[in-house]
Amino acid sequence: MRVVVVGAGIIGVCTAWYLCEHGFEVVVLERRDDVARETSAGNAGVIAPGYVTPWAAPGMPGKILSYLMSREAPVRFRPTVDRRQWRWVARWLRECRLERYRVNRLRMQRLAFYSRDELHELRTALGIDYHQSSGYLQLFRSERDLAMAGPARALLEEQAIPHRVLDADGCRAQEPALSADTPLAGGLYLPDDESGDCLEFARALRRAAEACGVDFRFGRQVGEILVEGGRAAGVRIGDGERIGAAAVVVAAGPESDRLLRPAGIDLPIYPVKGYSATVPLHEGAAAPAQALMDEAYKTAITPLGDRIRVSGTAEVGDADLKPRVAALRTLLKVGRDWFPDAGRWDEASLWTGARPMLPDGPPVLGATPVPSLFLNLGHGSTGWAMACGSGRVVADVVAGKQPAIDLDGLTLARYR
Ligand SMILES: Cc1cc2nc3c(=O)[nH]c(=O)nc-3n(C[C@H](O)[C@H](O)[C@H](O)COP(=O)(O)OP(=O)(O)OC[C@H]3O[C@@H](n4cnc5c(N)ncnc54)[C@H](O)[C@@H]3O)c2cc1C
Repeated sequence: MRVVVVGAGIIGVCTAWYLCEHGFEVVVLERRDDVARETSAGNAGVIAPGYVTPWAAPGMPGKILSYLMSREAPVRFRPTVDRRQWRWVARWLRECRLERYRVNRLRMQRLAFYSRDELHELRTALGIDYHQSSGYLQLFRSERDLAMAGPARALLEEQAIPHRVLDADGCRAQEPALSADTPLAGGLYLPDDESGDCLEFARALRRAAEACGVDFRFGRQVGEILVEGGRAAGVRIGDGERIGAAAVVVAAGPESDRLLRPAGIDLPIYPVKGYSATVPLHEGAAAPAQALMDEAYKTAITPLGDRIRVSGTAEVGDADLKPRVAALRTLLKVGRDWFPDAGRWDEASLWTGARPMLPDGPPVLGATPVPSLFLNLGHGSTGWAMACGSGRVVADVVAGKQPAIDLDGLTLARYR
């Protein structure tokens, strides 16, 4: 039985792998020339199930307003005339209430913890090395930032997620390479969270999937999902080629909504732009041992083998992926602040991507009202952390098997 997967980002590649494991004939259609060429290419690489959190959070609207005048703001909102943007914002504002935040966060964590377990199983089974490192250290430059993390810390306590609150000396003991010149009030360390290179993983899993029999077809822009006799029957490529299938899984990232609308599925997915800078390390330099997050700038710093990646910034309302110089300058400043001598900062490779963001936070997985049409999309800022779990869940649903986690709040039902 043939299943077509649209999109070969990390979500599509993981979905294809698990579908193949279930014994399906799998065809992956991707408009670019390789896997993980778009949002999955240059992300921060953080896998932090203990700390996955929706953007729709109490206090966020006020924070964004306070950032409006700052050039270094980690979050920017640019109003446009795009109706999709306002629809997204209206729902996002409703989801910022504390009770909604808690519900959404728990839904995301349920998937992220499962996903981490699946990732570990897969990397052991396939022997995949993707520059993984253990631990996640959040840095707070000021007492105010430290105090603002109080509610998140309370949730960690409540959920019994292992973590340690550190003072400045404790942070430096945990991460000895940190510069002593940058102000530091304290930190929060999550020993069970981790990081790794999403692109390397996607490439390795593509090779394993091909060996399993998955047929990756690149340079294929899917123009239409074919619905025949009331069910998904395949797709049509932009040039008119028809590819028939018994089931179609849409994993097309931020642009999935365009494909789905003609099939009667109208999801408020919206691209939220972000950046990363990847720099080679000086030989023998003291580099970070684990992923870090500078909370003041909402900027992640991740070790990736002989490179460091600095990433962050969220821009709502900027449709094109042109880099904004001020944002990249801020990333490099944060990297230099903490690790001035580690990286060859002048040789940074710069990258821009668009998070496929739903307003409440969790992705949408599984079946749709159109028989044989399935979704795996809307993973926002935590798609790498949720990729293996999401791929496994969707493959299970396609195969008619009971997924290992409860899908309540992770399906299309919450948008209907
Ligand atoms: C700055 C930044 C930092 C991030 N940091 C993290 C992090 O630390 N941890 C984390 O978990 N997540 C992080 N993310 C989020 C993560 O990168 C995304 O959630 C994830 O990559 C989404 O994967 P995807 O496969 O859904 O989308 P994509 O990687 O965008 O893949 C979708 C694919 O579909 C293809 N496609 C689209 N339309 C069509 C079509 N019509 N026909 C054929 N192909 C099509 C595209 O070419 C693309 O290859 C970050 C994102 C950004 C921008």
